[in-house]
Amino acid sequence: MIKMESYDTIIIGAGVVGMATGMYSGRLNLKTLVMGTTSGSELPIGGVITLTDSVENYPGFKHLTGMELAKKMEEHALEYGISIKEEKALEISKEKDTFMVKTDKEEYSSKTVIFATGAKWRELPMPGAKQFENKGVHYCALCDGAMFASKNVAIIGGSDSAAKEALLLAQYAEKVYVIYRGDKIRPEPVNAKLVEKNEKIEVITNTNVTEILGEVMVNKIILDKEYDGKTELDVSGVFGAIGHIPLSDLAKGLGADINEKREIKINRDSETNIPGVFAAGDVVDSGFKQAITGVGEGVVAAHSAYQYIKKKEVQ
Ligand SMILES: Cc1cc2nc3c(=O)[nH]c(=O)nc-3n(C[C@H](O)[C@H](O)[C@H](O)COP(=O)(O)OP(=O)(O)OC[C@H]3O[C@@H](n4cnc5c(N)ncnc54)[C@H](O)[C@@H]3O)c2cc1C
Repeated sequence: MIKMESYDTIIIGAGVVGMATGMYSGRLNLKTLVMGTTSGSELPIGGVITLTDSVENYPGFKHLTGMELAKKMEEHALEYGISIKEEKALEISKEKDTFMVKTDKEEYSSKTVIFATGAKWRELPMPGAKQFENKGVHYCALCDGAMFASKNVAIIGGSDSAAKEALLLAQYAEKVYVIYRGDKIRPEPVNAKLVEKNEKIEVITNTNVTEILGEVMVNKIILDKEYDGKTELDVSGVFGAIGHIPLSDLAKGLGADINEKREIKINRDSETNIPGVFAAGDVVDSGFKQAITGVGEGVVAAHSAYQYIKKKEVQ
């Protein structure tokens, strides 16, 4: 019989939150496995932060790329003898006080589980979005922006991420329309100023894109109200930045409480309602989602997992 590897804690998700959680749990001498997906449309090790070329609000670093931050965190975590594996968790169950984690490659057991599964981007809903996916409809400016050198593109969304994507695209494109259904886009003040100053970026508010048109590739979008006397804009690319859907299905399957936004509910100790199960980062029900806030929740989760295990040992 093959012996199953067992851990003190298994962290599902190898974004910055999974990595920081792993680093702390390694320092607490917990036998730790961090697992993250890498293939297909899934995010690479390092997670969603690797998709931005500019992080300027992570304490201790005035400026670095998302990939650099993720790499630093991975190296730091590995200092403490933890394992990071490129595997996808498919099923998690609880048998008495032990969690069984089945992945696409192996099966493991663990005393605790920490969810740091993040979120996936919400797909654009209008006609044409699916048809032209990767043929002018995209979700990552860093990955696909260079295709639109000297062309017109549109970003749909009004968040800080949307503004950052617009600034990145403006490095290549001729013109970048930021189209938002609300009254005012909501970037961080620093990014709002950069958007305002950038002559290539035009912000169109109170407007919805109702259709994406093209032949082989995108060539036009239709607006639900006139802009500059027209309801059509000639663009070669459309980037979606309309939010994220938390990847909480595995936690839900295990019995974790999930809210109406599909976020895992946690308390201030990063505990879920299930003893021995913790969560942190973009997948949880916190209002402000940034690398630093998720990392903070993850560090608390690692400490809570440590305390849970210690208490069990004396019971
Ligand atoms: C364009 C953009 C720019 C941003 N800029 C900034 C910024 O400048 N500063 C800042 O602080 N924040 C920024 N953010 C937000 C920040 O990136 C996130 O809040 C943070 O990276 C979330 O980390 P996470 O580890 O919770 O999730 P993620 O990074 O999404 O990582 C989760 C990981 O879990 C993996 N996973 C999911 N399910 C499974 C499974 N079943 N098995 C194994 N692995 C699984 C995923 O593949 C992924 O790799 C930005 C976000 C975007 C989109």
